[in-house]
Amino acid sequence: MQKTALVTGASRGIGHAVAKLLLSEHYRVMGISRTLPMNLPDLIPLSADLSDLEQLPQVADEVLNALGHIDVLVHNAGISCHGLFQEIPEKKLQKLYALNLAAPIQLTRLLLPSMLQRHKGNIICISSIWGETGASCEVDYSVTKGGLIAFVKGLAKEVGLSGIRVNAVSPGTICTDMTIPLGAETLKTLTDETALGRLGTAMDVAQLVSFLASDQSDYITGQNISINGGVI
Ligand code: NAD
Repeated sequence: MQKTALVTGASRGIGHAVAKLLLSEHYRVMGISRTLPMNLPDLIPLSADLSDLEQLPQVADEVLNALGHIDVLVHNAGISCHGLFQEIPEKKLQKLYALNLAAPIQLTRLLLPSMLQRHKGNIICISSIWGETGASCEVDYSVTKGGLIAFVKGLAKEVGLSGIRVNAVSPGTICTDMTIPLGAETLKTLTDETALGRLGTAMDVAQLVSFLASDQSDYITGQNISINGGVI
């Protein structure tokens, strides 16, 4: 049976690279994004605002109708949020927590029964280095990403005997639309703080996701795997 994958935030950046790589590995892939098109001919597209949590039951139904079952669920969609802790507008905070943390948890809750039924499944959350270390001026973002790591560790223990693996991937600075606003000077500093002397690419992260999705990582669950070029 052809393997299936759902990738959230597949229109660009890391999610796009993950969807592209999994398609090349012959997965049947559905990609969710706020905006269409997603620029990958074989991708099954679904447009949804995942920060609108009330939409999620319908999203889950549409996903299962289209794919039938899900082998690999990649929670990638996310937004960043810069500013002093006390100065972030309430509306922005609500969206941040909804999209980055509540949506992956809630979507998992909705899709898990189909995995439990098949005694098979693989859930991968894209966290962040800031979820591991915390970041000044990105406190709430750090909380959402740290929350994902805790989620992965807890859920992995609960569903391991049901044949389901759950892991997190924590990238350092990856060159995508999300990091362009940081500006050349900051990006240069971040590069200098990296042992490998370069920032990451979306494909660097996609290759790790592909490994975690594959049977080669069969004995890995409940882990958070850093991919940051060796931050010094
Ligand atoms: P990006 O901004 O390039 O892409 C984000 C994707 O999420 C897009 O496809 C966008 O359409 C989708 N998205 C945004 N809001 C959405 C919503 N409300 N509903 C549905 N989809 C929505 O970002 P990226 O750099 O590719 O980041 C992907 C993930 O990796 C994010 O969770 C981010 O926090 C995480 N991450 C990125 C970096 C980095 O340096 N780029 C580092 C660590 C972690």
